Amino acid sequence: MDYTRYDWTKEEILNIYNKPLMELLYEAATVHRKHHDPNTVQVSTLLSIKTGGCSEDCGYCPQAARYHTDIEKNDLMSVSHVKAQALRAKESGSSRVCMGAAWRNVKDGPEFDQVLEMVRTINKLDMEVCCTLGMITENQAKRLAEAGLYAYNHNLDTSEDYYKDVISTRAFEDRLETIDNVRKSNVTVCSGGIIGMGEKLEDRAGMLVALSSLNPQPESVPINALVAVEGTPMEDIEPVAIWDMVRMVASTRIVMPETQVRLSAGRTQMSREGQALCFFAGANSIFAGDKLLTTPNPDVNEDMEMFALLGLNNQKPFEKHAQPETVEALDSVLQALGEKPKWTRPGHTIERNEAAKVKSKIVK
Ligand code: SF4
Repeated sequence: MDYTRYDWTKEEILNIYNKPLMELLYEAATVHRKHHDPNTVQVSTLLSIKTGGCSEDCGYCPQAARYHTDIEKNDLMSVSHVKAQALRAKESGSSRVCMGAAWRNVKDGPEFDQVLEMVRTINKLDMEVCCTLGMITENQAKRLAEAGLYAYNHNLDTSEDYYKDVISTRAFEDRLETIDNVRKSNVTVCSGGIIGMGEKLEDRAGMLVALSSLNPQPESVPINALVAVEGTPMEDIEPVAIWDMVRMVASTRIVMPETQVRLSAGRTQMSREGQALCFFAGANSIFAGDKLLTTPNPDVNEDMEMFALLGLNNQKPFEKHAQPETVEALDSVLQALGEKPKWTRPGHTIERNEAAKVKSKIVK
């Protein structure tokens, strides 16, 4: 039976998610083995190339300027700094570098040109390059592709319904539009979400409906567990149970058989046994490095110890898709268009986001 379908319904996904655990694990592991080597896991390093001061109001994020958190703000990193970090990541077994900038959207200009140079530099190190820079236009996606970008990350975060309770500064449709713009280039799509933000099981299923109905489905789907950071609107939410992570990973694997399912934020809260269950349920990618943008992550040596213990191998770069070619800036056929797209700004009131903003003004 071919499991690749683009018409999964919420009810069907809920039925999968709620199966007796042993059945769910067996089914997910069976799909996993059919489409992937179960002993190979891709390792990515996430690098925050521009930290904090973001104008958005994502309720889970310590980088939003409007909340009072302890993160240190940083301007855009230099290309040489990024290159040094990428080399370190390569030496420690990562096949991919994912560069994150706390921007609402990409603006043409010197900073984007600098990011394009980072992409060229890392692709020339024979590593997969991913960027997560906020909303982008089709032309910007094509310029990234021309520089040698392998993947673009843009998470849906949660279901369309619950999105309105998490973010008010942009709409779910904006996310889909950026993914669509990326699809118009030859860059692969990385898009997933976060569980444990107070959403219902229906919202988890709803997010998987939205992701699995994309045709083609995203090549990579990160599943994050909320890391509640003090000062953010979600600071008091209890960590999600490991069983929820396992069920979410297994359901993702079943409805998106070809994708690489990535265990992302929240791994520090998970035991090795818990992570092993997630790998069995179909996770085949992790983020390595002691920090995930701003939140803690297991030490890379600990991860490699875990890999040895479980008999897992690091996936080599470009095993799933060919390495893109890099066009040098001087040879580029694409120009900055200086577009000013009208990304939406719904601006509705989210009580907990407002409360965190007010609290932040008192603390500051
Ligand atoms: S998640 Fe991204 S867009 Fe949202 S506040 Fe954080 S850095 Fe900004």
